[in-house]
Amino acid sequence: MTDLAFTHTEADRLPAAEREALLADPGFGNVFTDHMVSVVWTKDAGWHDAEVIPYGPIQMDPASSVLHYGQEIFEGLKAYRRADGSIVTFRPEANARRLNESAVRLALPEIPEELFVAGVRELVRIDADWVPSGYDQSLYLRPFMIADESFLGVRAAERARFMIIASPAGPYFSGGVKPVSIWLSRDLARAGRGGTGAAKCGGNYAASLLPQQVAADNGCQQVLFTDSATVDTIDELGGMNLFLVRADGTLLTPRLNGNILDGITRRSLIQLAKDRGHAVEERDLTVSEWREGVAAGTITEAFACGTAAVITPIRQLKSEDFAIDFGESGPGELTMALREELTGIQFGTREDRHGWLSQITEPAAGAAETAAAR
Ligand SMILES: *Cc1c(COP(=O)(O)O)cnc(C)c1O
Repeated sequence: MTDLAFTHTEADRLPAAEREALLADPGFGNVFTDHMVSVVWTKDAGWHDAEVIPYGPIQMDPASSVLHYGQEIFEGLKAYRRADGSIVTFRPEANARRLNESAVRLALPEIPEELFVAGVRELVRIDADWVPSGYDQSLYLRPFMIADESFLGVRAAERARFMIIASPAGPYFSGGVKPVSIWLSRDLARAGRGGTGAAKCGGNYAASLLPQQVAADNGCQQVLFTDSATVDTIDELGGMNLFLVRADGTLLTPRLNGNILDGITRRSLIQLAKDRGHAVEERDLTVSEWREGVAAGTITEAFACGTAAVITPIRQLKSEDFAIDFGESGPGELTMALREELTGIQFGTREDRHGWLSQITEPAAGAAETAAAR
């Protein structure tokens, strides 16, 4: 590591009125802030050229290795504006650690965790005006790493680039939190033993797009992937981890079996559930168990979780020949209680007992009154 300090090149900032208009209803992943972070790695010089530069297209050689062999990894985390005007992020060091675990699997260089976290902090500070203050709004941060050596031979690239872009995001569900239907993918898989299922890499998402289309054709919003050998042991959704709730309040979730992502939302919810006195079982979980449990009344709720949507209640699991359905009862009670608690910690209305938040900017003078009046 040569230099932790970021150099800044100031962008032509979007005029405040135009920014505010975009922040009124940003949707998800459509709008980007004025700046971005870029750090270069070469085999010989290590990480260097840490910069915050104007957001915009990057130059890339058509022979750049990422374009041919998909050597890419990414992360997702959010910055939240609190009622007092201050800005916080949630467990950024966990994202840094996970990016490095993905890097090892994809034969990309590991990045110093301090450099990752410093990049997040720099970008959020410089583009702080882009952190929205509306209900359930946040600034979604997308750190990623690509191999960009110009070389068509098949081996790990000797040049890579780490970047962070930021996108203001509204509530994931425009009409409130509604239970979704998910499709059981039988023939199409996203991961297998020894593969890249536990890494957060673009390739896993590429493999999930066709099954996602099949799900949509069957009236479902998401796909459930299982272990491809049994088509019964549950892995996770395309981009979210899965939980079932037993009638006795026990939470069930697949263990980290090498095929699924070690979700930070998953990990946080396990802790919050235990804090509330719930038992949590991390183990092999099957579709059969889900099906029989719902029929017998012993499994009463299901939800998916991830940074983008926090918690998505699941109403039914559909496949070619059966459906497991919780009926019209709406999101489960524990599902919603955990959602309240986690978002409460993030937005500052619940105590941060575990020290998960890291503050990026100070409370704004006079902001508390403004927020209180909102
Ligand atoms: C990112 C991701 C998740 C959720 O992880 P969080 O850290 O909770 O955002 C779950 N599954 C997959 C496949 C993912 O890529």
